[in-house]
Amino acid sequence: MAGCRVSFPQLGNYHAPLEVLFTMGFEVEYIVPPPVTNRTLALGSHHSPESVCAPFKYTLGNFIETIESGADTLIQAGGVCRLGYYGELQAQILADLGYEVRFINLAGMKKLSPLEVYSRLKQLNPKVSLKRIAKSLPVVLKMVEYMDEVEDYIRKNVGFACKEGLFEQTHAEFLSDLRTVRSRNYLDRMYRNYRQRFRNIAVSKPKNPLRVGIVGEFYTVMAPFSNHFIEKELAAMGIVVDRWLNISNSLLHPPKKIKERVKPYTRYPMGATSMATISRALELAKKGYDGIIHLKSFGCTPEVDAMPVLQNISRDYKIPILFFSFDTQTSETGFKTRLEAFYDMIMTKKASQRQTACSGTFSR
Ligand code: SF4
Repeated sequence: MAGCRVSFPQLGNYHAPLEVLFTMGFEVEYIVPPPVTNRTLALGSHHSPESVCAPFKYTLGNFIETIESGADTLIQAGGVCRLGYYGELQAQILADLGYEVRFINLAGMKKLSPLEVYSRLKQLNPKVSLKRIAKSLPVVLKMVEYMDEVEDYIRKNVGFACKEGLFEQTHAEFLSDLRTVRSRNYLDRMYRNYRQRFRNIAVSKPKNPLRVGIVGEFYTVMAPFSNHFIEKELAAMGIVVDRWLNISNSLLHPPKKIKERVKPYTRYPMGATSMATISRALELAKKGYDGIIHLKSFGCTPEVDAMPVLQNISRDYKIPILFFSFDTQTSETGFKTRLEAFYDMIMTKKASQRQTACSGTFSR
């Protein structure tokens, strides 16, 4: 292994495939970022410009904690919004704070050829061959897909588990075992084994459960701490949770013809995840979901632009939409109160729909 200790900001559970990519592909040590906590946010907020969106603060705090854990090389991804400028600014802030780390900024990666990306990442370990990295990629990409499939299944069933905590415990074991994977065969076998274990977990699901879809901004949707663990809250209310946004759906298999699908509601792309938000909300409305929850960071312009469009979808399909805008000061009590009120509302609506359906049957 080369001497470098590399890390990347925490996002969901994707540290598992990243660890495999860096250890197996680049032959460098990967420092798993510490879980995001109040301290992460306090550190990030303290050293960030006040008006910047929350993902900047979370990732900066996470970088500082990762350096404290021993990382000497940090990677920041680019993005199609102001995320593209984050890397430069964060590198400067860390340097001003006196941290001597190497910062690899992949901003503008979408415009780079695979060879240019390779040459930037080769700084991690100049001795590593392209062949070796290429060998690790199919394992890493498949791992991401398997993880996303498993988490999708959990979201739809965890609220109905007969034995509390079994899904969470099996999921933690799955993530821990993923970190040991070094070949595609082993990964496939492990996945099949866990898929069976998840399917064997007894659930008691009503015939027509409440179904809620989550849409919104990339980081806020995928980083549970930043959205106050909303998926867990919804599951505890006995709700089937749908969340389309993950790495497989957005980056590995990006949706096609999205502009055509949303044409009745919007003609021009508004940046970042906004078009995917609108497209998914429309799909959920057409599928008859009981409600939609839109999550974003305070000040996220692309998602602010999507909000009036979502309101039009809500009006046309009579589907309630709850909007949450998180910043570093969001009150837990306020969050829970609004979520509970939303739950009461969709529950009452569903009950009255059931009643109407029953009285319709009797009158025939
Ligand atoms: S999508 Fe929004 S919240 Fe996310 S980085 Fe861009 S501006 Fe910030």
